Amino acid sequence: MKTIIEPFRIKSVEPLRMTTRGEREELLKAADYNLFSLKSDDVLIDLLTDSGTSAMSTRQWAGVMRGDESYAGSPSFFRFEAAVRELMPFKHIIPTHQGRAAEKILFTICGGEGMVIPNNTHFDTTRANVEATSAEAVNLIKPEGLDPQLEAPFKGDMDLGALEARLKTQSNRIPVVMITVTNNSGGGQPVSMANIRGAKEVCKKFNKPLFLDACRFAENAWFIKQREAGYADKSIKEIVREMFSYADGMTMSAKKDALVNMGGWLALNDDTWAMEARNLLILTEGFPTYGGLSGRDLEAIAVGLEEVIEEDYLEYRITSTAYLGDALTQMGVPIVRPTGGHAIYIDARAMLPHIPVANYPGQALAVELYLAGGIRGCEIGTVMFGRQADGSEVPADMDLVRLAIPRRVYTQSHVDYVIECFAELNAGKDRIKGCRIAWEPPALRHFTAKFAMVA
Ligand SMILES: *Cc1c(COP(=O)(O)O)cnc(C)c1O
Repeated sequence: MKTIIEPFRIKSVEPLRMTTRGEREELLKAADYNLFSLKSDDVLIDLLTDSGTSAMSTRQWAGVMRGDESYAGSPSFFRFEAAVRELMPFKHIIPTHQGRAAEKILFTICGGEGMVIPNNTHFDTTRANVEATSAEAVNLIKPEGLDPQLEAPFKGDMDLGALEARLKTQSNRIPVVMITVTNNSGGGQPVSMANIRGAKEVCKKFNKPLFLDACRFAENAWFIKQREAGYADKSIKEIVREMFSYADGMTMSAKKDALVNMGGWLALNDDTWAMEARNLLILTEGFPTYGGLSGRDLEAIAVGLEEVIEEDYLEYRITSTAYLGDALTQMGVPIVRPTGGHAIYIDARAMLPHIPVANYPGQALAVELYLAGGIRGCEIGTVMFGRQADGSEVPADMDLVRLAIPRRVYTQSHVDYVIECFAELNAGKDRIKGCRIAWEPPALRHFTAKFAMVA
């Protein structure tokens, strides 16, 4: 069949509230044109993030009821541990309340002044946790990963030549090498098996551990199955196991590919690091058999890990993201190509060339999208990255708007509605004006800045 359907039916519904354009104009004004300041009840289609926004299945909700809340040694922990180990056979599996807590523990152990952590592209919390220990976070993405229009299968690949060169000159300063799958900050682009295997070989030469930042491991495995020679006939589980067979550890946000609303873990083989990690865990997260989570959360993760590797799910997931991206490409809206796993990134600077970068074309587009249809996306551009530590303003590399797709939440007609809103907006885009910042905090301004629209 050509039609790829949502491989589930709906048992419990969450009503959406429609708003009029006039209402949205008022709501935006009250929010100072910052979409983070909107009440989510006033958003019709919320594409702000795919993190923690998944819909859980009947089996996951049944698991929630089964959750055992014993402080130590709960059977829910052992079910969680077995489910993780089925895919990622690490010796030590340490639950945390979300991904950044695992990062904090890992870099507390191995980071610090003078240390250097290579990654294909650090996600922002990963970078922040590296830098919080005074270590340096370096991105070693292959150059093709930086060209938004280039069609290539594995634009998340690490530059292994650059990695080897770094290890040759800075080996004693590099405690761990990381690869993020899929590469979230680089457009959700996948990393090939050959690249993970190659990174492992380089690491082995220098006796360094390789860790995966594995938030979207299942989406990455699906891309390997579709795009990499030799994997078409392998099961997703086999591909996932092979990916992790090259790794010595991982950090995970369960809010992504474990299909739950909260959770994460750190997994690794090294006994000494594991002991240090558990000691830190007890300090800030909790006892090692719950690590900042309830027993019911651990149960939901255990089931989510079985569901996320189902091929019907992954085919629907990746196809529905591509469906939105391809429709936008067809109407001439410039996006980062090819479409990644979890989000579409619109190149607002290219779409609205009449708006100077100083008037934030990404923010202007995000505001306009909410006005047009109650759709909430997220500016990833000069508003987010433009302000420098010395207070000056430098344009970001790109002005993007990210539309992240929550897992199993919206149907095709919701996506068709988004496409229709874009068609209308695109036809009148020359009338869109930019904005300026009326007030901003000293750091992380995109969350709380107040904007004024250019008249
Ligand atoms: C979300 C994410 C994290 C952080 O996880 P949280 O659960 O949000 O703390 C780390 N790395 C990547 C690639 C992510 O997408």
